[in-house]
Amino acid sequence: MENVKIKDKTFKVYLNNSQIQTEIQRLAGEINARCAGKKVTFLPVLSGSFLFFADLIKHIKVEHEIYFVKYKSYSGTDSTGIVDAMLPPPASIKGTTAIIVEDIVDTGTTLKTIVPDVQKSGPDAVKICSLLLKPDKYDFAFSVDFTGFEIENDFVVGYGLDYDEAGRNLRHIYKLTNS
Ligand code: 5GP
Repeated sequence: MENVKIKDKTFKVYLNNSQIQTEIQRLAGEINARCAGKKVTFLPVLSGSFLFFADLIKHIKVEHEIYFVKYKSYSGTDSTGIVDAMLPPPASIKGTTAIIVEDIVDTGTTLKTIVPDVQKSGPDAVKICSLLLKPDKYDFAFSVDFTGFEIENDFVVGYGLDYDEAGRNLRHIYKLTNS
């Protein structure tokens, strides 16, 4: 498969769409099994998770509701972990198991804001599902319950993930080349 050029950078295929779909079916199976008999509130995090969630939800069999949430990091404040809730979770999701759906989890800084916000909405439990996880960089006491792929610390784009807001529509996931 061909490399793609996005703005000033070149990326090569890392995970192709068929590998991604196979993993999503496995993840959905795990969610269906572990949440059987429960009511689930899915909280997909915009913008990056839109393609992942659209494919995941097609395989979900448990009773559920869906509320998209959106958070934005303030530039230059990564180390302080200040993240702005542009589209917060609903006021109450009592009596349900909340599943936060992320495209990628890196240091866990974003989750450090999202998880307490979701807990305030009063669910029975909060779980995290992420298509990609960079385990070496993850630094948050809350574990990721449902993980698609554990990856190295490479910068990846495509399948919802952007490089400077470009590349989200690519059907495969690409990683930065050294060239
Ligand atoms: P964290 O808060 O876990 O450090 O980082 C999460 C956010 O950083 C993700 O939601 C995503 O926006 C961005 N991010 C981290 N690693 C990557 C990557 O490899 N590619 C892209 N496109 N975004 C990333």
